[in-house]
Amino acid sequence: MNRKDFIKSMALLPLVTSSMKLKELDKMTASMSSTSKMPVLFLGHGSPMNAIEENEFVAGFRKIGKEITKPNAILCISAHWETRGTYVTAMQNPLTIHDFGGFPKALFDVQYPAPGSPELAEQTKHLISKTEVGLDDKWGLDHGAWSVIKHLYPNADIPVIQMSIDYTQPARYHYELAKQISSLRQKGVLIIGSGNMVHNLRMVAWSKINEEFAFDWAAEANEKMKSHILSGDFQPLIDFKSQGNAFDLAIPTPEHYLPLLYTLALKEENEKVTLFNDKPVGGSLTMTSVKIEPN
Ligand code: ZN
Repeated sequence: MNRKDFIKSMALLPLVTSSMKLKELDKMTASMSSTSKMPVLFLGHGSPMNAIEENEFVAGFRKIGKEITKPNAILCISAHWETRGTYVTAMQNPLTIHDFGGFPKALFDVQYPAPGSPELAEQTKHLISKTEVGLDDKWGLDHGAWSVIKHLYPNADIPVIQMSIDYTQPARYHYELAKQISSLRQKGVLIIGSGNMVHNLRMVAWSKINEEFAFDWAAEANEKMKSHILSGDFQPLIDFKSQGNAFDLAIPTPEHYLPLLYTLALKEENEKVTLFNDKPVGGSLTMTSVKIEPN
């Protein structure tokens, strides 16, 4: 079955709830699964303006989109969807949410009409035993998702669902939760964490917002994070609250950082980790992005 037929047939399925239907769904996704595992990404999204500007970061996203096998669907954990409890978007046609203010009209005009996938939402819910995952029909795609995914897949022809970040839970919980969806990688699902490793909006040097500039603490935190990511030593990254002053300044609130932990949790042994878009902006943000893939 090719991808198009698969999506068509999936669209005919009602929301599945019985275990029998889930088994059928499993069979279906198994038949279309690629033999190789999909990579996992963490994308530093930065300013929403990256959605419509042409710059090196956007070029980096486009390059990644071309490098990897075209996925059957995307599951995105965005910094911009925080909830009490964990939810996945389960609507057939998610709206493009313009969840920001003070930007030009051109940014509010952007639409990213990728379909949703109620089936993938249902499957994700059933994979996760750590908590009861809610099916959401109100959110859509926020700019943490569409501002970057649109560069990877400009035709908006790949179904996208989002999974929310439970703001009541500690870092380790998110890391462990992410591991429960690892089997989606074998079903052609591209899992993307979207946030920023270093993200302190209160300390942005606005006069240098378009410059490659980092405060000392931002550079220090970013270097340490990168070193832990590349060496596979994720414990200090999970324990980010006890890593000292540079980390405290880099992660004043956890929502932009936690998507990184979702991505890292999905790394399996002997997988290759590469960094891209590894640059600071405005002193207190880094765009550093991560690709994890089978060797
Ligand atoms: Zn953001």
